[in-house]
Amino acid sequence: NSESLTVDRYDPQPLLDGNRRALAKAITLVESKLDRHRQQSQDILEQLLPHSGNSIRIGITGVPGVGKSTFIERFGLYLIEQGKRVAVLAVDPSSPIAGGSILGDKTRMEELSRREEAFIRPSPSEGALGGVAQKTRETMLLCEAAGYDVILVETVGVGQSEYQVAGMVDFFMVLMLPGGGDELQGIKKGIVELADALVINKADGDSAVLAKKARQHYTNAMNLLRHTSFWTPRVMTCSALEGQNIDAVWGMIVDYYFQALEEDAFHSKRARQNLEWMRQLVDEMLHLKLSRNPRVRELLPRLEREVAQGRATAYAAARQIMEAF
Ligand code: GDP
Repeated sequence: NSESLTVDRYDPQPLLDGNRRALAKAITLVESKLDRHRQQSQDILEQLLPHSGNSIRIGITGVPGVGKSTFIERFGLYLIEQGKRVAVLAVDPSSPIAGGSILGDKTRMEELSRREEAFIRPSPSEGALGGVAQKTRETMLLCEAAGYDVILVETVGVGQSEYQVAGMVDFFMVLMLPGGGDELQGIKKGIVELADALVINKADGDSAVLAKKARQHYTNAMNLLRHTSFWTPRVMTCSALEGQNIDAVWGMIVDYYFQALEEDAFHSKRARQNLEWMRQLVDEMLHLKLSRNPRVRELLPRLEREVAQGRATAYAAARQIMEAF
């Protein structure tokens, strides 16, 4: 019952103490489409903001079947062994066409989900303001305030969501299959360019040799790209199934973290991401205000007809809408 979520005064202490129910409840508020929940979740976020930010945010993408959930489970368990607390968030571009979510329908990460040190949250459904990815940004802040020190944001590499995820994390990696070119793997070129690491999974059994070859291929390909940052993306192999090289992936991310701090790039990247986020929100808020404006709503059907019938130009109609607004 979403009514019962609304309270007069929010006490942040349980969440700050790491209470999972408090965290889950705050996330539900953040994901709510109701305006009054929106208001309240913003109050909560403001209270918690000073306690957020103390984590490494890692984005993980790859085509269905590449081994994302297997990898995240292994990786998460490894991190817990290292004394970390791990939150796993999903950004699932559940398309109306595909009918339902791509990530959510399997029993996933069973062992990890049983661990006290892990918090796994499925993808929010389509939200009103901000969309799925924006909710995940806010959820990330809540998880940090609750003491999770590694945030893994998982997404399927099939839509736009991987670009959004790349824009909200410190380190972005693409899981790949051994063998087959990028085209065969359905991986878009733009994504490889955004990656801080390509990790070729399933480097085991008969595929081990293929994976090695793929590593060489991608290392060459990556070297051809122009890198504007201090970091040269790395190409690695691993086997999520057999737990091979999982520690090396973490080692690489730790390397990145310290180099980024040294280069003063860690906080400036987050600052850029926050600015971009703010701009997106301004766009969306403007749009929402516009679409709710009574005069615009009254005008719109007639203008749309006129534009569709070629009796008014799109420009003239757009001008009229802005003037009414
Ligand atoms: P996702 O769709 O990307 O989440 O992929 P899953 O984690 O569900 O894995 C898809 C299939 O690949 C499952 O049958 C896994 O057991 C298998 N798999 C995942 N990682 C590995 C690996 O490192 N080696 C091998 N041989 N199989 C793997």
